[in-house]
Amino acid sequence: MDFASILARIKEASPKHRLDIGDPDLPPPPEFVEALRKVDDFRYGPAEGLPEFREAVASLFGVEPGEVVAVAGGRHGLAALMWVFRRRRLLTPTPYYPGYFDIAGIFELGLGLVETDGGWMPKFAERGVYVVNYPNNPTGVVLPREKVRELVDVAEFVISDEIYRDIVFDGFTSPMELSSSVAVVYSFSKVFSVPGLRIGAIIAPRDVAREVAKFNRATVNVPPTPTQRAVASVVDILPRRRAEVSEAYRRRAELAAGWLKLEFVRPGGAFYVFPLVADDVRCFEAALAAGVSLLPGSLYGDPRHVRLALVEDEERLKEAFTAVNAACGGPR
Ligand code: PMP
Repeated sequence: MDFASILARIKEASPKHRLDIGDPDLPPPPEFVEALRKVDDFRYGPAEGLPEFREAVASLFGVEPGEVVAVAGGRHGLAALMWVFRRRRLLTPTPYYPGYFDIAGIFELGLGLVETDGGWMPKFAERGVYVVNYPNNPTGVVLPREKVRELVDVAEFVISDEIYRDIVFDGFTSPMELSSSVAVVYSFSKVFSVPGLRIGAIIAPRDVAREVAKFNRATVNVPPTPTQRAVASVVDILPRRRAEVSEAYRRRAELAAGWLKLEFVRPGGAFYVFPLVADDVRCFEAALAAGVSLLPGSLYGDPRHVRLALVEDEERLKEAFTAVNAACGGPR
């Protein structure tokens, strides 16, 4: 089953609990919504992003504004970077975010898979350009610092998809801290609960940043300027927001471990659990019949798991997980 037919099945079943796509349920920060409402300048802007936006993001990452490029969401930034490195050997650990294959598909790029162990830890051995995502979708795991070291030691370059970097339970090391051959894909979709606004940024060495701006020029041309203006004016709320969302999702992940009678590796961030099941599509169908939508692991390259997004409040999640236990069974 492909993603489109799965979404069609979910729509048709209209389940009580939507734990399929990662659409955050926490309300966006009111200061940001207010800032957006106040924007009254809707003109074009530079392809690389407005100076105030680049400065704001640069201050968050401790880099220079010339190393920041605005993009129309993380996915757009990923497409830009995979295009920049299109002539190199691209590699990604499994399970993977399916978007990487959507992008590789349209550019007709090969994307090699890197196996992971039972704790979802990859073995980084081959030289190449790695596309990695920590905290991870779909597993929620975060790499320990030694693993990040192993990655940067073997990689020619790292495209580090850090769209969940603000949802972390016990620490996170970005490859950017250990190497300069890294481009970070950042997005406001998850931390601000605004995935429809399409705003993110690439933080990369200047030569790579210039190529990303070239990709912008050829595609969106100008990443949405009203959103850039609003982000720039409230960037100082990010540390508090990060703490709030991390705590809310950490609690849900912890409660999930008690409620869900299926085995899963405890997440270190993001808002997913990826438990083991006998058959992912059968579990998807049975859970849907019991009023819960989740996603089969085959979409992420692993048919022995299913992904549940922790995007409902605690009471509703408990009810949903009870239904999933009955539908998907399995030993604990
Ligand atoms: N990377 C990962 C791992 C994701 O889970 C998502 C969205 N679910 C994205 C990138 C893209 O996010 P956006 O384009 O909304 O920033």
